[in-house]
Amino acid sequence: MKRKTGQDRAITSTWRPATQAIRGGTARSEYGETSEAIFLTSGYAYDCAGDAAARFAGEQVGMTYTRLQNPTVEMLEERIALLEGAEACRTMASGMAAMTAVLLCQLQTGDHVVAGRAAFGSCRWLTDTLLPKFGIETTIVDARDPQAFQDAVRPETKVFFFETPANPTMDVVDLAAVCAIARERGITSVVDNAFATPALQRPMEFGADVTAYSATKMMDGQGRVLAGAVCGTKDFIANVLLPFTRNTGPTLSAFNAWVVLKGLETLSLRIHRQSENSVKVGKFLEPRVPRILHPWLPSHPQHNLAMRQMDAAGPIFAFEVEGREQAHGLLDALELVDISNNIGDSRSLMTHPASTTHSSVSPEKRAEMGVGEGLLRLNVGLEDVDDVIDDLDRALTKVGL
Ligand SMILES: *Cc1c(COP(=O)(O)O)cnc(C)c1O
Repeated sequence: MKRKTGQDRAITSTWRPATQAIRGGTARSEYGETSEAIFLTSGYAYDCAGDAAARFAGEQVGMTYTRLQNPTVEMLEERIALLEGAEACRTMASGMAAMTAVLLCQLQTGDHVVAGRAAFGSCRWLTDTLLPKFGIETTIVDARDPQAFQDAVRPETKVFFFETPANPTMDVVDLAAVCAIARERGITSVVDNAFATPALQRPMEFGADVTAYSATKMMDGQGRVLAGAVCGTKDFIANVLLPFTRNTGPTLSAFNAWVVLKGLETLSLRIHRQSENSVKVGKFLEPRVPRILHPWLPSHPQHNLAMRQMDAAGPIFAFEVEGREQAHGLLDALELVDISNNIGDSRSLMTHPASTTHSSVSPEKRAEMGVGEGLLRLNVGLEDVDDVIDDLDRALTKVGL
């Protein structure tokens, strides 16, 4: 039946990613709408009391309450799962809701986690502050070195948790090597794939068990809504993640799900153009600044690994100037690029991580993570790249670079 094509995995899994991004997961209502409908409803009505009882008993297919199921949200989950090459996906209200859920749903007192050192500030708060409150220990490692994961493993290690490329230092993790270490020992590897998205990097193809997303970033891609997602096997999503999320309720709103559905339609186009722009801006900046951390430039220590794992650079990279004063001076001299700590937007945005996204991390930990006082992170948008370069040129000159 044509109306249901977007829901039939036997058909949709044979589609190429560009087709999946437009049509995957679409479930049309009886009106036959072409664009996905937004089901802004918290509850569902039943034809009779017996139907309600049967649905709650799991004997009848159907929705019961939006914390548990919503048609718009399910369309997005199916679309992300298809793009990811995953059996299943569950969305959340934000990226951090996804990261919190994916860790807490599978850990308990006495368990141990090995996590990457360079990470989003709040992800470090989860591993360094939240988990220890529940008696879950974390060992933080330099995730660029697979051996560091191996050396940190204990009998009670349950999860490897890391992002690649990592925020904001652009550390790249060898997915195949680290996920193989996890597999051999029955440890679940959880990869935060926010920077690359499935349009550029599919960690499961390298052996990752679970991927987790801030869909706020490239998936929405236009700086509009917060959203998160977790992808994994049907068994993991249904039996490990769902009992946690159904009862704790970090549910994505149907409206926000719809915005991200629309974002996915153009994800590949946007991320490839932004990647090209980011390489052009990186090449312009390289001779002007003391240090640049851009995975697509040969000066990046893991350039070859990045090229092996990713289809393109992505829009984000970092570079260093002399210190906080010069970094803030450069930001204040920008006329086009916004001072903003968001990423993955179609607008070019720049931030000083030490005083914003990573200000909650202690100065010692920041130094250890490579987040120096002169580090700046740039998200290159979809503007004409020459306008972005002109703006940077003007601002760099103003601060004497
Ligand atoms: C932004 C981000 C998060 C958190 O996502 P939110 O949607 O802001 O909650 C987690 N990990 C990485 C790598 C991020 O960039």
